[in-house]
Amino acid sequence: MSENPTAQEHLWEGTGVSHGVAHAVVHVLKEHFDEPDTTPITPDEVESDLARWHTALEVTRTEIEALQKAMQDEQGSVEAEIFEAHLLILHDHSILKQVEKTVREQLICVDAVYYRLMCKHMDALRGLADSYLRERFLDIKDVTQRVMRHLRGEMLDHPMFEEPVIIVAHDLTPSDTVQLDRSKVLGFALEMGSANSHAAIIARSLSLPAVVRLHNICDELHSGDPVLLDGDEGLLIRHPSAETLAKYKTREAQTDARDDALLTTRHQPSITRDGCRVKVSANAEFIEEMEAIRDCGAEHVGLFRTEFLHLSDPEAGEDWLAECYTQAVKAMKPGEVIFRTLDLGGDKIDPVMALEKEPNPFLGWRGIRASLGCRELFRRQLRALLRASSAGRVGIMFPMISGVEEVRQARALLDECARELLHEGVKIGDDIAIGAMIEIPSAAVSADLIATEVDFFSLGTNDLIQYTLAVDRLNERVAGLYQPTHPAVLRLIRMTVEAANRASIRVCICGEMASDIQLTPLLVGLGLHELSVTAGQVAKVKHAVRQLSAAECRALAEEIMNQGCLTYGLEKTRAMALAKYPELLE
Ligand code: PEP
Ligand code: MG
Repeated sequence: MSENPTAQEHLWEGTGVSHGVAHAVVHVLKEHFDEPDTTPITPDEVESDLARWHTALEVTRTEIEALQKAMQDEQGSVEAEIFEAHLLILHDHSILKQVEKTVREQLICVDAVYYRLMCKHMDALRGLADSYLRERFLDIKDVTQRVMRHLRGEMLDHPMFEEPVIIVAHDLTPSDTVQLDRSKVLGFALEMGSANSHAAIIARSLSLPAVVRLHNICDELHSGDPVLLDGDEGLLIRHPSAETLAKYKTREAQTDARDDALLTTRHQPSITRDGCRVKVSANAEFIEEMEAIRDCGAEHVGLFRTEFLHLSDPEAGEDWLAECYTQAVKAMKPGEVIFRTLDLGGDKIDPVMALEKEPNPFLGWRGIRASLGCRELFRRQLRALLRASSAGRVGIMFPMISGVEEVRQARALLDECARELLHEGVKIGDDIAIGAMIEIPSAAVSADLIATEVDFFSLGTNDLIQYTLAVDRLNERVAGLYQPTHPAVLRLIRMTVEAANRASIRVCICGEMASDIQLTPLLVGLGLHELSVTAGQVAKVKHAVRQLSAAECRALAEEIMNQGCLTYGLEKTRAMALAKYPELLE
């Protein structure tokens, strides 16, 4: 990266949601698919305007053909056929003719003419019950998006970067994130977002710095600008001066020294000073993370969010899924991998779901509801998971459980798939643990009933907090009200732990609060058996557990839960953390 010595350093302050520092050029992802302006053109401009459109069509064709080839190489010709449909739409004779005719007759820029015509075709198919026609809607949308982007001279859909970049965007949805070339992305700087959005969670999982709430940053920066992104302090610095870079270098050396010291003990078990074992496992989203997870000291994978594999290829077949899951299982051997079945909905929208917009997606068709409603999709996943279970230890847990009935239905389908596979002569593991995520208050309150149906609980506090406190986890306006140490949340956690203990089943917490080392004393005190945390935090959380006394932590939790004051809990647990392991917090 070449720095311009005369350029002035400029600093923006946002909120750091994933630690670390990155120094690279930025790549600005613009929002796409806005309606273009209906700009009039003169008769003299018609030919050049149409030529611009033809170039965009050509670039789109090359792009689709490249994707088709990549898919053919990876998965064979059947999946690649969807791109055949895209090419047919791109070259549809009647569309081409109609656009040319309208531009010539009405003297309106081709962007607006093409956009409106394609929208008309989409409107005709939108919301149809027939699944074939619904897919055609998505095909047209995809092609239109690509052409519109090229017309505006913007980047490709899923850009391939030649050099490492920091992604700058308005916001990143989980589907945007899976499409990025992660081997080249060094960090995220976003205008929107919150610590509990899936973009932030992914950044932490991949140990990439991320800063959110950098308002209007997309307009201020241009692709290629060199920046320094500081996820610890929540800063973005364009054209960092030599002095700034030197300061950061010193800081990096200090952090590296501390982390190296921690790494030497990362594979040791996490047992408190008074002999209470609290396992520490890792959360994962991508297969490529497995190596790092093995190396970080995690005892197993406590949460594998399978939605991200799904979003990277919503049409993927059972064989491909089984292969991916098997890879993850083999990588963690002899440790267990707990796969969470698809938690689509909320902010993780797959293309078919996008067809029916919901007024409140987090209270809508999400998680187990969507899976039970899309039986074929769910069966495909369950069969793939069962197949992977012959390669090592597999756990399967169901997300967004609101009550015991959903667990029974999901288990019945799982049993049906297992019988089918055995009948087909396919080997499956004989020790698959089945769990329920406790992330809706109703599940915590009825945890004793659910406990009779499962082998373990996993507390999804990211959602449990939002649903208990009625605070949208993505809404920055109410971010201050999103309080993991709220007594109501703690009481629900405690109820869940007690129900698990009475039923002699294990209970883990896999929400982001498990990764916060200030909260470790409180979580140990609440009696959790296991903390499943972001890979980069495993060594720290294990170290923290080793410095604590479970008896002291229990007294702390008891005291905090019985206090109405909202800041009290955080202050108290932080004070204990600071007293027991200052080296991690200072
Ligand atoms: C949670 O809700 O805490 C959880 C782990 O699931 P997700 O963040 O994917 O909703
Ligand atoms: Mg959740």
